[in-house]
Amino acid sequence: MRLCELSLSGFRNYEELSFEAAPGVNLIVGDNAQGKTNLLEAIVYLGSGKSWRTQKSGELIRFGSDFADLNARVESQDRIQTLRSVIFPGRPRQLWRNGVKKKSAGELSGVLNTVLFCPEDLMVLKAGASARRRLGDSALCQLRPNYDAALAEYNRLLDQKSRILKDRFDHPALLEILPDYNLRLCQVGALLISYRARFYEGLGKAASVYHGQFSGGAEEFRLAYHTVSTVEDPFASVAKLTEDLQNHMESHARAELESGQCLTGPHKDDFDVTLNGLSVKTYGSQGQTRTAAISLKLAQRELARRELGEEPVLLLDDVLSELDPGRQDFVLNQITSGQVFITCCEPGRFTKLGQTIQISKGKIV
Ligand code: ATP
Ligand code: MG
Repeated sequence: MRLCELSLSGFRNYEELSFEAAPGVNLIVGDNAQGKTNLLEAIVYLGSGKSWRTQKSGELIRFGSDFADLNARVESQDRIQTLRSVIFPGRPRQLWRNGVKKKSAGELSGVLNTVLFCPEDLMVLKAGASARRRLGDSALCQLRPNYDAALAEYNRLLDQKSRILKDRFDHPALLEILPDYNLRLCQVGALLISYRARFYEGLGKAASVYHGQFSGGAEEFRLAYHTVSTVEDPFASVAKLTEDLQNHMESHARAELESGQCLTGPHKDDFDVTLNGLSVKTYGSQGQTRTAAISLKLAQRELARRELGEEPVLLLDDVLSELDPGRQDFVLNQITSGQVFITCCEPGRFTKLGQTIQISKGKIV
């Protein structure tokens, strides 16, 4: 899967932009605030119909323009395809795939998949568990629509159970339906654990290979998935996992009623990464943490390639700073599979695997 050509009009700080992308590495260099991240945002938008930076479409339209028009020529699914997004202020955007207007972003799926690493992802291994869960969940949802559906159901049930617990004094009668919610939460929760165990195992193995190359063999990367304590084997059958979750829930039933909160279930899952046996969360240096986080993204792309048969385009925003020369060389010159876009501010960087694009004030120079 690769982006062959990108044209933007009225998008962010781009009045007009058009360029042909290299099949390997595209290094986008420029000072701060010149439009490097905006370019990655346009690529993500074309592939998915949304931006990770904003939900307000108006922000994406260049100040003074009436609308933004994004176009891409893409090679995927063994042919050349086109994508177009037109974004209007205050009314729904319009999406086209191969010249045919599409009703939903879901209909674009599989044409231009991307895996993005942005500075906010940097500290995911240091941050609280919810940031890691989000990272894992969003990768898994992309790979497995059934997981996506199960997660949505779980979150809905959890929400409803939370409300029952919160209103337990005002509406005690609602407590009668709590066992039904608990059972379903355990059943769906078991499914989530089953998916996650397999996903994290694959992710950890792939990331470990990348991290080994990245660090020149100096660091051994391991990922461990943690779930509810009564689950002895997250690879057990869904029936067994359901039973394990019920046991945990029963032992916490009283505490849940007393605190009015959902205290048990895979919504508290986490994973931990160690390098040479030391937890990145506690002991990782800036560069190590950054390297491990990038390795996870590379692994996510690898799993997507195995699943979908095509490698998503990798977008690395601002990853080079704080990496030593060897690790920078890995990012610039050793990611040989698939297409990569890398942004950086530092002048003098170049790649042997593709082209360097210099951006200044929303123009290629
Ligand atoms: P950095 O190296 O600091 O990350 P960058 O090159 O990635 O910089 P971008 O995030 O791409 O910078 O943003 C470049 C500029 O785009 C910003 O100065 C911002 O003010 C401008 N910008 C954002 N939205 C719009 C818009 N709708 N219209 C015009 N300019 C915009
Ligand atoms: Mg930027």
